[in-house]
Amino acid sequence: MLAIIKGKPGPGAEKVQVEIDEPRENEVLISIKIAAICGTDLHIYSWDPWAANTNLLVPGIIGHECVGEVVRVGKNVTSLSIGDRVCVETHIPCGDCRLCRTEKQNICENLRLFGLHTHGCFAQYAIVPSICARKIPSQIPDTIASVMEPLGVGVHAAQLAEVKGKRVTVLGAGPIGIFTACVTQALGAEAVYISDVKENRLKIASKCGNFKLWNPLKTHTSIVLNGDHRPDVIIETTGNERAIQEAIPYLRKGGQVILVGLFSNNISLNLSSDVLFKEATIMGIHGRKMWDTWDTMEDLLIHDKINIAPTITHHLSLNDFAKGFEIAQSGEGVKVLLSP
Ligand SMILES: [Zn+2]
Ligand SMILES: [Zn+2]
Repeated sequence: MLAIIKGKPGPGAEKVQVEIDEPRENEVLISIKIAAICGTDLHIYSWDPWAANTNLLVPGIIGHECVGEVVRVGKNVTSLSIGDRVCVETHIPCGDCRLCRTEKQNICENLRLFGLHTHGCFAQYAIVPSICARKIPSQIPDTIASVMEPLGVGVHAAQLAEVKGKRVTVLGAGPIGIFTACVTQALGAEAVYISDVKENRLKIASKCGNFKLWNPLKTHTSIVLNGDHRPDVIIETTGNERAIQEAIPYLRKGGQVILVGLFSNNISLNLSSDVLFKEATIMGIHGRKMWDTWDTMEDLLIHDKINIAPTITHHLSLNDFAKGFEIAQSGEGVKVLLSP
């Protein structure tokens, strides 16, 4: 089968032909319908300091966001059948540690990640632990299903911040930022602000919801988030030090900062004035709750409470993955899909 692998540590990835593996007893083999390029894949592709220090499977097939169809089932798997349409949950929990036993499988002590620590889905087929394969309701089309994994990050962030009735500022109008803004609005936030330095991304965000948009390169954050516009919640999705440094002074007292974007390096914040004296809370989130997040997400999608279709800007053949990465990296596209 065709697969895109990270062959050795360093930038880039290559197209290769590899054997299709047989699923082991607790695994399924899925035929990939659509895979999506994630920000994490961009870090891995460019091999930044985060990627270099993350113990990734190299050589390994990259990619972790996808929808596919079960074509072979391991002998212990009872929850799935051939023909089931599934998304892959990236978290591979051990099922046995103190966190797995308290419904926090997404931060399992022994967590592995599909497509990072195992072979992933930028290929014609993928082996998936059965615990990570989620059957998807038929009302949700393949294109939307292919981005449910990252959409779930937005759902988890908005739920954790209990956004109902609050003023929420989302930093970054990349895929996760727009998804987060959509969910935040659907869950009843009083107002949703979203920033990005790329105008095309703000334009796409404007098609997805009634957000207050600003470009911090044109209008300083201090003008937008002042007075009554100060946020109760800041959801940071850029992984950019300057974005959070500029916004956090405007957080209201007692407010929350939810960190979602991956920072390539250490960052500097004024914790005394911006956190301590405000009794602010800073929380990180990792992925999605298994499976509360997915239940909420399916409800939002099936009942048309969110409109994320405009975020899907490109759909290419897996053969053209290099072009897809270029489009995603440049910010020209928001969500870039690949089909084998
Ligand atoms: Zn992802
Ligand atoms: Zn565990």
